[in-house]
Amino acid sequence: MPTQKVIEGHRRFREKFESENEVFARLAEEGQNPKVLWIGCSDSRVIPELITGADPGELFNVRNIANVVPPASGEACSTGAAIEYAVLHLRVDHVVVCGHTGCGGIKALEAPPSPEAEPHIAGWLGLAAPARQQVLARGTAPEEVYLETIRANVLLQCGNLRTYPCVREHEQAGDLSVHAWLYDLRSGVIEEYRLASGTWESVAHSR
Ligand SMILES: [Zn+2]
Repeated sequence: MPTQKVIEGHRRFREKFESENEVFARLAEEGQNPKVLWIGCSDSRVIPELITGADPGELFNVRNIANVVPPASGEACSTGAAIEYAVLHLRVDHVVVCGHTGCGGIKALEAPPSPEAEPHIAGWLGLAAPARQQVLARGTAPEEVYLETIRANVLLQCGNLRTYPCVREHEQAGDLSVHAWLYDLRSGVIEEYRLASGTWESVAHSR
């Protein structure tokens, strides 16, 4: 039963908690000071701490279907609140928007769900739909449309990120960097979009 597996896992975690108590005690007493806001997909295979080797306290996480950033609107929005909190209060240095191959949310753009049957999914994926439209409009070969849409969506959401005044201001001031990343489920490689060359390159090759 999955619940039993989760509880067993928690028991093992408690052992680690006791044996590495200094780390957890420091985090509890001193508070968090993450340098990175991670905006990734909810997909259970794309675990930010696992693929980056981050420790507790290092990543401030937002995960949602298809790593979407709704444009700033002033309305109640968990992603928007997390962005403002991370930038204005935690003063993170980096925002990573990380998409991934095999993303079910992006796949669903090929046959969008009905707003009547799945109103929340349909509305949410509408925020990623322009990525597919861009890819189709540039005459992309059919076999490349899916991957190219995943990439275009990451760039689209980075653009939406810049509709937040706090992101624009800190980026322009030079104390905040926005990164467009793509995690490949098959190879385990993370690629970053390079604006200068317009190409995606492995982050492991850069410093
Ligand atoms: Zn996904």
